[in-house]
Amino acid sequence: MPVTDHVNLEQFMEGVKKRNPGQPEFVQAVQEVSQDIFDFIQDKVEYHEAQILRRIAEPDRVVSFRVCWEDDNHNIRVQRGWRVQCNNAIGPYKGGIRFHPSVTEGTLKFLAFEQTLKNSLTGLPMGGGKGGANFNPKGKSDAEVMRFCQSFMTELYRHIGPDTDVPAGDIGVGGREIGYMFGQYKRIVNRWEGVLTGKGQEYGGSAMRPEATGYGAVYFLRNMLKHRDMDIEGHTAVISGSGNVATHAAEKITQLGGKVLTLSDSGGYIHDPDGIDQEKIDWVKHLKNVKRGRISEYADEFKGATFHEGRPWGVAADLALPCATQNELNEDEAKTLVKNGVKAVSEGANMPTTLEGVHVFHDAKVMYAPGKAANAGGVAVSGLEMSQNSERISWNHERLGDMLTDLMQGIHDKCTEYGDQGDGYVDYVKGANIAGFKKVADAMLAFGVV
Ligand code: NDP
Repeated sequence: MPVTDHVNLEQFMEGVKKRNPGQPEFVQAVQEVSQDIFDFIQDKVEYHEAQILRRIAEPDRVVSFRVCWEDDNHNIRVQRGWRVQCNNAIGPYKGGIRFHPSVTEGTLKFLAFEQTLKNSLTGLPMGGGKGGANFNPKGKSDAEVMRFCQSFMTELYRHIGPDTDVPAGDIGVGGREIGYMFGQYKRIVNRWEGVLTGKGQEYGGSAMRPEATGYGAVYFLRNMLKHRDMDIEGHTAVISGSGNVATHAAEKITQLGGKVLTLSDSGGYIHDPDGIDQEKIDWVKHLKNVKRGRISEYADEFKGATFHEGRPWGVAADLALPCATQNELNEDEAKTLVKNGVKAVSEGANMPTTLEGVHVFHDAKVMYAPGKAANAGGVAVSGLEMSQNSERISWNHERLGDMLTDLMQGIHDKCTEYGDQGDGYVDYVKGANIAGFKKVADAMLAFGVV
């Protein structure tokens, strides 16, 4: 008898914990997925025999490397870089690069695991990966960021390629960093090829890519509300973060007639009861992308707004969009949101809500969309950037906007297919986990034991 026939969820998770010491976020991500998958595969012997879940929870490979660079004072600095290639059953590895001092191998393994299911959900041929370094771009000069990116790519280039692994941006990696890394890759291999996504539009980037994650999270939110005969118009929203995902989520909420009350960064949050309109969002984008300033400056600029330390979840609103980072919304904060009447939560960030927080939303029957479904618009448009690069064409903003809307609708429908609880409530976590898992698992079955 195959071993997994005798293993229950607790025993399985014990094994995951033992094999991945000191990687709590990875264990948390596997736990969240496994509880749904254990139910789903209970009567499906082929998945047990092939040990599919066990194999998906073990990355294909983890590459770790030294990144040396010289700062402006001529000090030699040493950072650690990684690329986690989790699973390429349905397409080349695909997933962002994160530069943040908190990055560890465990963080990237969790993100690559989530990415595998997310990419599957998009319906596009993309496997899952993630990379990064414990480098802090904050406070560094452009020249320092350039030297770091070049050094990082000097090692990374040998592990990636347009049909092998196609990284993109993530926290701390925006257009500037992608430009420096793409330039270095091209210089080393002497080929122009679509090895990174999120590129500038002058050199092969896709229209709609910068907006796609934030807009997509709002489209998913709109789909959830529509499923219950509701709409975004006239509703208030609390949003965390003030980076790429948060500002574009705020923009789309505003365009659809909602009112955004908060944005944040790691220093605290601003509360603007008048609403953060397009003009103010543009000001925040400039503050963050050009001036590289702090969100607290917003309260100096706009009368009526206030700055507070901590996170924004105590501000009462109908909708919540965590768009900063993992584990930024805990059980108590989820209870506060519920108490204040939140109707729906759509995650722009990856795993921003703790497992306990998710249970609070489910128990209160609040519509709750996990990041792997709600923020998949970014990687979906990255997939479309890969297609455009391969075909040497570029589609316009309008066409890509329509494609993004359709893709998010398709993801929503897959979630409802597997997550409908029969009483009108949809468990989007379960729906996303099962739909994402099934496609990858079936591909792996076709390959045999590899
Ligand atoms: P950015 O670097 O553009 O912005 C990140 C934002 O989150 C900043 O406001 C940052 O504040 C804040 N933040 C980061 N770490 C923390 C922390 N520990 N505590 C509080 N605030 C924090 O990143 P993105 O907007 O691209 O990414 C945000 C989230 O969305 C991440 O979880 C990412 O994985 C996810 N995501 C991004 C995609 C994309 O296309 N960019 C695609 C899918 C998911 P500060 O400036 O102070 O650090």
